[in-house]
Amino acid sequence: MTSSSSTTPSQTSAQSPSDWLLTPVHFLKGVGPERAELLARLGIRTAADLLFFFPRDYEDLTSIANMAELQEGVLTSVLGTVLDVDGRNTGHGKTVVSVLLEDATGRIRGVWFNQPFWIERFRADQRVLLSGKPQWGRYGWEMVHPRVTILEADDETTAGRIWPVYSLTEGLRQYEVRRAVESNLAPGVAALEEAFPTEFLAGHNLWPIERALREIHFPSSLEALEAARRRFIYQELFVLQLALSVRRQQQQLSERAPSLEATTKIDARIRRRFPFELTAGQQQVIDEIAVDMAQTHPMNRLLQGDVGSGKTIVAGYAMLLTVAHGHQAAIMAPTEILARQHLATFNDLLSASHVRIALLTGALTGSEREHVVQQLAAGSIDIVVGTHAVLSEDVQFAKLGLVVIDEQHKFGVRQRARLKQSGLDPHYLVMTATPIPRTVAMTVFGDLTVSTLRDHPPGRQAIHTYLPTGSERQKWWDFVCRKLCEGRQGYIVAPLIDEVDDASASSVQTLSADLAAGPLAGFRTEMLHGRMPVAERHEVIDSFRRHELDALIATTVIEVGVDVPNATLMTIYGGERFGLSQLHQLRGRVGRGAFPGYCAVFAEPGSDEAQERLTAFVGTTDGFELAELDFKLRGPGDLFGTRQHGLPPLRIADLRRDTETLLETRTAAQEFVADDPGLAKPEHARLRRLVLARYGTALDLADVG
Ligand code: ADP
Ligand code: MG
Repeated sequence: MTSSSSTTPSQTSAQSPSDWLLTPVHFLKGVGPERAELLARLGIRTAADLLFFFPRDYEDLTSIANMAELQEGVLTSVLGTVLDVDGRNTGHGKTVVSVLLEDATGRIRGVWFNQPFWIERFRADQRVLLSGKPQWGRYGWEMVHPRVTILEADDETTAGRIWPVYSLTEGLRQYEVRRAVESNLAPGVAALEEAFPTEFLAGHNLWPIERALREIHFPSSLEALEAARRRFIYQELFVLQLALSVRRQQQQLSERAPSLEATTKIDARIRRRFPFELTAGQQQVIDEIAVDMAQTHPMNRLLQGDVGSGKTIVAGYAMLLTVAHGHQAAIMAPTEILARQHLATFNDLLSASHVRIALLTGALTGSEREHVVQQLAAGSIDIVVGTHAVLSEDVQFAKLGLVVIDEQHKFGVRQRARLKQSGLDPHYLVMTATPIPRTVAMTVFGDLTVSTLRDHPPGRQAIHTYLPTGSERQKWWDFVCRKLCEGRQGYIVAPLIDEVDDASASSVQTLSADLAAGPLAGFRTEMLHGRMPVAERHEVIDSFRRHELDALIATTVIEVGVDVPNATLMTIYGGERFGLSQLHQLRGRVGRGAFPGYCAVFAEPGSDEAQERLTAFVGTTDGFELAELDFKLRGPGDLFGTRQHGLPPLRIADLRRDTETLLETRTAAQEFVADDPGLAKPEHARLRRLVLARYGTALDLADVG
């Protein structure tokens, strides 16, 4: 497959654009140079961009009632002109605002109690839409606390139809966008080509492009709007699923990996090294991995398991299996701290064995690094434990058989693609403690097979979570001090500040000074943040580990990986700024040893969403539950490294809402690709172009034709 030259921003939906579709907007009817500039700010440059600039919402004015026909208590919408606005204090700080509207047939009053701001919103002669239940009162018809839409002065919105509502930019009016779209719909529809074969449309209950495009802008009914939206949502998800299917297939066909079989002998030899019995979950996941790694095409497996579920040992198994076959294994962690911790774990596991392990991180000095790089290329290192430094250009492996990426949500998917070598491709195992909602697993991570660790190693400690406010905070500190005196240790996490290292560092400094002068006076504390030189950071962590410190005051640098079993107290400042998965990760730092963990979140929830998030956090320690909720509250946007994953964002489909359609397109795409592997059939040419234009680069879709 060669890349298509079509690069309009509307690749989701644009069909192999004819010349007309590429017309710059300023040449279009109803646009002109001035508006063209404003439209450009919305990313609209060509006719195709304009046609595929879908409304962000709709105003349904189909069922506007005449004011003469109102009925007591029946939910109704009315459209009228403002005659009068009135606001009164009714004593004891209470207010009432009313607005009087008129249409050709009658009048009605909108009424608000104790919401004085409404008075500012209305002006005489404005056109206003009210929805609510009318009541016949002392002064005629009223609606108490109705839904309100105030129409712009030059808005031509009239009753009797469903109006599109477009996103705007300053200086651009709603009616201008509507007119621009409406005037160009006819030539647009004529120029468009259908991407789906006719039988496919019929078979999957999809509207043809022309009809769908017309109706998504100017729906003739709510049912028509639904059908039109379905067409575009389906297309967007189908194109994505096609891309993923094609990629999976290319991997199976063209990529070759060493077959690394877990023979009974090898299996026994590996297990002898483990200091504990595997849990049933670990055993099952290891079985799944072993099946994959025995194949001659690369494993691409995502292992998701809650914080502390014991993923490291699973990775250890896969790595030793690789080494047993004379291949090299690499494991990458998102932080230096975590990499060193893994190194220590594997060194323990492999003491007195012949397996050669090395560390490769950004902190190695020139000559140390050179030595490791050389030995990797020569094949005299079996296992390399590192950070993304392992991905550097000059790092070459003699015989790489397996790559493990730990805490993948900190990396982003794309980096997976980079560790390649000539000859055979390695197997991939990607691990994450942020469970991935099913729909995201099928899209963003759609080219991975998923294993899930649901159980925990025995003897896991409970973690108690609190949300102290006011005087409870003092009580929390009293409790912390008591525990510190008993010999436990604690973390205090500073509020999250927009990822600017300097600012975070200074917030840690301020917090640290406050605590040292206040609740933690007399205890041994140190700061830990990303601005400190790496060596200094390790010193601090090591002395904390050796219990030469009682408490660490840190940024989220401690979020992943820090494992100090004696630390049982976690205090999080600015809790409202953290996402649920991040809070969960932070909490996962305690309750790791023989003692129960305690976590307090200091927060000023400024919104319902933040309140819901924090309440949920206190309510459960189940990472899977929290991940689903986080997804519902925030969407896939900033979770799971979806922003850095390299896939373009979905424009109309919503993974939270369109689950059904997603499943449908997934099956359909798999059948489609099974029937036409390279999307080579002439009747699939347009779909193939759409797939390449949108995902060719991101998914590295090579030529299969
Ligand atoms: P995570 O999944 O968060 O990476 P780890 O792999 O760090 O979890 O494991 C958490 C702790 O549980 C470690 O101290 C590890 O040694 C211990 N552990 C893992 N598996 C078992 C097991 N089967 N039995 C007992 N302890 C285990
Ligand atoms: Mg881990």
